[in-house]
Amino acid sequence: MPSKEIPYKIYLEEGEMPKAWYNLRADMKNKPAPLLNPGTLQPLTAEELSPIFCEELVAQELDETTPFIEIPDEIRNFYKMYRPSPLVRAYCLEEKLQTPAKIYYKFEGNNTSGSHKLNSAIAQAYYAKKQGLKGVTTETGAGQWGTALSMACSYFDLDCKVYMVKVSYEQKPFRREVMRTYGASVVPSPSETTEVGKKILAEHPGTTGSLGCAISEAVEVATKNPGYRYVLGSVLNQVLLHQSVIGIEAHDAMKKYGIKPDMIIGCAGGGSNLGGLIAPFMGEKLRGEADYEFIAVEPASCPSFTRGTYAYDFCDTGMICPLAKMYTLGSSFIPSANHAGGLRFHGMSSTLSQLYHDGYLKAVSVEQTEVFKAAEQFARVEGILPAPESSHAIKVAIDEAQKCKETGEEKTILFGLTGTGYFDLVAYQKFNDGEMTDTIPTDEDIAASIARLPKVD
Ligand SMILES: *Cc1c(COP(=O)(O)O)cnc(C)c1O
Repeated sequence: MPSKEIPYKIYLEEGEMPKAWYNLRADMKNKPAPLLNPGTLQPLTAEELSPIFCEELVAQELDETTPFIEIPDEIRNFYKMYRPSPLVRAYCLEEKLQTPAKIYYKFEGNNTSGSHKLNSAIAQAYYAKKQGLKGVTTETGAGQWGTALSMACSYFDLDCKVYMVKVSYEQKPFRREVMRTYGASVVPSPSETTEVGKKILAEHPGTTGSLGCAISEAVEVATKNPGYRYVLGSVLNQVLLHQSVIGIEAHDAMKKYGIKPDMIIGCAGGGSNLGGLIAPFMGEKLRGEADYEFIAVEPASCPSFTRGTYAYDFCDTGMICPLAKMYTLGSSFIPSANHAGGLRFHGMSSTLSQLYHDGYLKAVSVEQTEVFKAAEQFARVEGILPAPESSHAIKVAIDEAQKCKETGEEKTILFGLTGTGYFDLVAYQKFNDGEMTDTIPTDEDIAASIARLPKVD
């Protein structure tokens, strides 16, 4: 058994919680490419963004120079109900693997929404309330973001309209009920309630939807209803900013015990948990103060980094949203129905895309059956039933720990355990029954959607 000087759970005191978010872009020499107006192809201005997003969130979205942005007291007080989140030394997993590696994970599943998404939901709801809005609209894939936003909106007494990808709406009725309990209205997408939904349904009758479709619908509703704005749970710079609370806590807790990670691993859907977890460490790397290895893990069924193209693309299927430069599979790409619903977005955060492009970040893709094997291994010794999304990071953390076993290296590995899997038991059932399959897009599938990228240059 490894030394017990370091406790299983490392907590910061309440008074040690971050007072400011960290804006990684401030330390990037090559800034992420700006969002473009899809009509003029010019960088979007604050005036153009403000009919879609709340004013302060627009300011955060466009701010690439201020390193620290104070967390308002109202948000910090909410954070105190479920943060600081634990940083756990995975002693039991280490022992099981017989690895000399030291494994830590930052666990974000300790709140009712079951994932890290609440960190940004509460911030976005706060700014909407502060602006005097009536409500917000959004999309949700697997349901975690919609759940988090419903909780945040009920806390600040805001109306919340959620467009939920139809396949999840049907497969995850319990998530839907959590959202409704918190007062949100939940509509399966694509729907007949929007122009873009009708158009998508006419073109693809019987479609089970995608995040891109649901985004188009939510944006349409926000821009057509006075007093409403659209909020997004990942991808955007502002979301990465709010999620930096994960990384700052992890960084400070490790520092308190004199621990320095060699390698930081996170699953990547739109990039918000990974961007948040690595933020302060990446800042040190960019400033030349320390070195770390960063690994993004994505599903082989939706491999934006590893098989995508770095280009301007739409964030939505209806092609009404701003254009973002990112690693993308094309906005018309609809991934196969894998079980890591939160990792099924066709693109990737523009900040992480730039860092990946510049070689600061690596990426690997993994198949879902392997991911569930890792989830099972983890659950059996560490006592947490992990979300399928989070289990992508577990899989690669275990692989890296196995490599250490072969080489004898005592690497320190930190990974993000973004949430719990209690609403994913249909997926676990498939796995337990041996019925889980892996679907990997062909080169032709990807080329077909890449061919439809907007022509920008
Ligand atoms: C949404 C989600 C993710 C992926 O989103 P990112 O923005 O890439 O972090 C990962 N894990 C869980 C549990 C999620 O709910």
